[in-house]
Amino acid sequence: MKTVCKLEPDKKYVDKVASISLERINKCYQCGACTSGCPSAYLMEIKPNQVTMLLQVGDSKTLLESETPWLCLACYQCEKRCPQGISIARILEAVRETVLRKGIDTTSLSDVKEIEELPSVALVANFRKMTS
Ligand code: SF4
Ligand code: SF4
Repeated sequence: MKTVCKLEPDKKYVDKVASISLERINKCYQCGACTSGCPSAYLMEIKPNQVTMLLQVGDSKTLLESETPWLCLACYQCEKRCPQGISIARILEAVRETVLRKGIDTTSLSDVKEIEELPSVALVANFRKMTS
């Protein structure tokens, strides 16, 4: 039986992420070293190595619908471990950038519980990352 792929690759989006991040996404060969060292991977429905896989096939929809870009801690473990020198941190930062450039915020003050008890530096870091 012939298998038909119905996915229309979103090459424009992949090119945009590559140009913002300056990462060579196609060099990833799915070794999984990034995911195995990622402290947030257990929370991510799309794991760090799957981020490059989705971009390689042009599936921007699945990536943008996931929370993975917002769960990255920017700890750069993935970059340190990658034998191909790819930084998933920079790729995910670029993905967040594409959302924020459209003026879409992913948090608001009303989402933050017990705001008075949080360190101000954590609040500022959160709003710098999650708002346009
Ligand atoms: S930078 Fe992000 S993706 Fe990379 S290891 Fe840290 S939390 Fe995971
Ligand atoms: S460590 Fe590098 S080559 Fe391996 S899966 Fe992650 S991004 Fe791809």
